[in-house]
Amino acid sequence: MTLKLYNTLARKKEVFKPIKDGEVGLYSCGPTVYNYAHIGNLRTYVFNDVLRRTLKYNGYNLKHVMNITDVGHLTSDADSGEDKMLKGAKREKKTVYELAEFYTKAFMVDLEKLNIETPEIIPKATDHIKEMIEIIRKIEKNGYAYSAGGNIYFDTSKFKDYGRLARLENDDSEKKSRVDADKNKRNPNDFVLWFTKSKFDEQEMKWDSPFGKGYPGWHIECSAMSSKYLGEQFDIHTGGIDHIQVHHTNEIAQSEAAFNKHPWVKYWLHGEFLVIDKDKMAKSGDNFLKLQTLVDKGFDPIVYRYFCLTAHYKQQLKFSFDGLESSRNSFNALKNKVIEIKKDDDGEIHKRLDHRYTEEFKELINDDLNMPKVLALMYHVLKDEKISNKDKYSILLDFDRVLGLGFKNMKEEIAEVNGEIEALIKERDNAKKQKDFAKADKIRNELKHKGIVLEDSKDGTKWKKI
Ligand SMILES: [Zn+2]
Repeated sequence: MTLKLYNTLARKKEVFKPIKDGEVGLYSCGPTVYNYAHIGNLRTYVFNDVLRRTLKYNGYNLKHVMNITDVGHLTSDADSGEDKMLKGAKREKKTVYELAEFYTKAFMVDLEKLNIETPEIIPKATDHIKEMIEIIRKIEKNGYAYSAGGNIYFDTSKFKDYGRLARLENDDSEKKSRVDADKNKRNPNDFVLWFTKSKFDEQEMKWDSPFGKGYPGWHIECSAMSSKYLGEQFDIHTGGIDHIQVHHTNEIAQSEAAFNKHPWVKYWLHGEFLVIDKDKMAKSGDNFLKLQTLVDKGFDPIVYRYFCLTAHYKQQLKFSFDGLESSRNSFNALKNKVIEIKKDDDGEIHKRLDHRYTEEFKELINDDLNMPKVLALMYHVLKDEKISNKDKYSILLDFDRVLGLGFKNMKEEIAEVNGEIEALIKERDNAKKQKDFAKADKIRNELKHKGIVLEDSKDGTKWKKI
């Protein structure tokens, strides 16, 4: 069966053909570890995960690389503003290295909570300075770089296809030139490959190089780490759509200039934004929600994964707590159903797979990862009265290889959770006895936020999950 993916480079769905039969090289831009990931970032990693699971479901031998950006780059998506890592380190009174280590760990914990599979290779930018320097030397040798004001720049006028990915028009360059204050640039789209003149006095991270002591521009790390682990030409590169115009456009220019491979990457896939009140969610903005914020409000992280799967990765997804709550209700109902059908399971999965449904499932994931339709198909299977619970469970476990909702490990609420709820109910009963109704109501609301409703009767208080 053919796998079709929407390739930003071609602006259409294309049949996926790997460079090497049966093998896929996949690179995903990873986080800049100066703060927690916000849930908009995490949506992109759920999309990456669905892609990697789909490739594996299709039988490909996958090598997935996701970098960790632990060397400072500038605060805006364009090449300007303050240094993110340095700003974070000042805020938290840590060295930039401590900051990076702390937030890398926090990021990996988030991925685990969302049931996101760990990529095969997770390289850190600071471990690959030598490789970055080598590529910059190649770019220089091939005539695409110049030195100005102490920094090495990429000369975009020498690169004929610059802006192909983003379909950049001349108008965009003119707009950019008005906001860009860097007088060293020969062309508005030029960008720094290596800095020796930092705008920041206290820049901690500096390395010796043939261009002088300094540090790399942001974009070069992705070219260095992808080529080291996947070769100078590879199959798929992913990221959020905010990377198309600057970061990925510059990655292509510098990599093709260095390696002389066209196209450097065959398929570019981009995940859309999560939006709150029509604004893109950004770490620097006011609407910064992290996964722990959702947990604090009583949401299981896997409910957020389910919420992400309700929209196609190329559609904007509007976030609201009401929307998340409705996903929680659907997910809890699904969970109860899975626990119910699982009781009939005898472990003989493969003999019983209903191929009509698995073929349909494969068609949907292979049609550019159509997860909303996969969820609809899953509910259809659950409602089908012609198939037994055993067979339903087998089919769902097969779907879960891509959905990643953890059907296999679903079980009734564990005693500890029950214990916590019972304790709160007792506290509420005591408050009621003491006529502290404000406190009693507060506890009721607190439980409601955790997805628990209380029913008072003459035999005492009972609770159930919404
Ligand atoms: Zn990147």
